[in-house]
Amino acid sequence: MIDNKALAEYCDDYLSKDKFDDYCPNGLQIEGRKEISKIISGVSANLDLIERAIDEKADALFVHHGFFWKNERTSITGFKKNRIKALLDNDVNLFAYHLPLDAHSIVGNNIQLAMRLNIANPMPIGDTLVWQGEVNSKLSGVEQAIKNITERTPLVFGDGEKVIKKIAWCSGGAQSYIEHAIEVGADCFITGEVSEQIPAIAKENNIAFISAGHHATERYGVQALCQHLSQKFDLKHQFIDIDNQV
Ligand SMILES: [Zn+2]
Repeated sequence: MIDNKALAEYCDDYLSKDKFDDYCPNGLQIEGRKEISKIISGVSANLDLIERAIDEKADALFVHHGFFWKNERTSITGFKKNRIKALLDNDVNLFAYHLPLDAHSIVGNNIQLAMRLNIANPMPIGDTLVWQGEVNSKLSGVEQAIKNITERTPLVFGDGEKVIKKIAWCSGGAQSYIEHAIEVGADCFITGEVSEQIPAIAKENNIAFISAGHHATERYGVQALCQHLSQKFDLKHQFIDIDNQV
C-alpha cells in the first residue's frame, strides 16, 4: 500500500519526468483515492480501459497515452467528460507517462522492445528518441520475431532476403524519425505507424521499414513500470490490453 502522492513523486523521479518537453502533462493527471494497493496498466486511457479498471477495483490506472494533449480542445465535454467522470466518480487515480516511458533505460518502451527482439547493444541515437542496436538476421527473420511478440502482422517494406545488421527503432508513431535511422546507416527501421511517403523514402535510402503497430509497440513500457512498482511497494498489478489494430 502506498499514498498516491508518494507514488507520483516516486514515478516522476524514477522516470526523470522533468527532463522532457512533452506534448502532454506527465504524472498524476487525475487524482483519486489516497491509498493505493491495486494498480492496472494499459496503453491508452480510453473508456473501455477505464471501465475495465473500475471493474477490477483498481486504485490507480497507469497508461502511456493519457489526457490533455497539446493542441486538443481544453473543454471537458463529450467523450472526454465521460472518461474523466468515470475516473472521478470511482475515485480512481490516473497516472500517464508519455515520452519518459519511451526513453527510460530499464522500463522504457524502446528498451523493452529491444529485449524482446534480442537486439544487441541497444542505445539511443544521440539525444533523439530513436534507438539503435545490432541483429544478424534476414528481414524476414525480423518480421517473424515481431509477429511472435506482437501477435499481429506487421507491414514490411523491403526485400525479405536482405541481411539486417544495424537496426533502429522507435515505438509509437515515429515514422518521420526514419531520417535518424538513415543518418546512422541502419539497415532497417521499426516503428508503430506508417505514412504515405515512407515506402519511397525507405526505398531511396536502401533501408527496410517495418510498421509494427503503434499500440502493439507501446504495450511493454507501462507493464514493465507497473511490475517494478508492484515489487517495490507490494502492490497488486494487472495489465489490461484493449485491442487496437493501429
Ligand atoms: Zn504513442
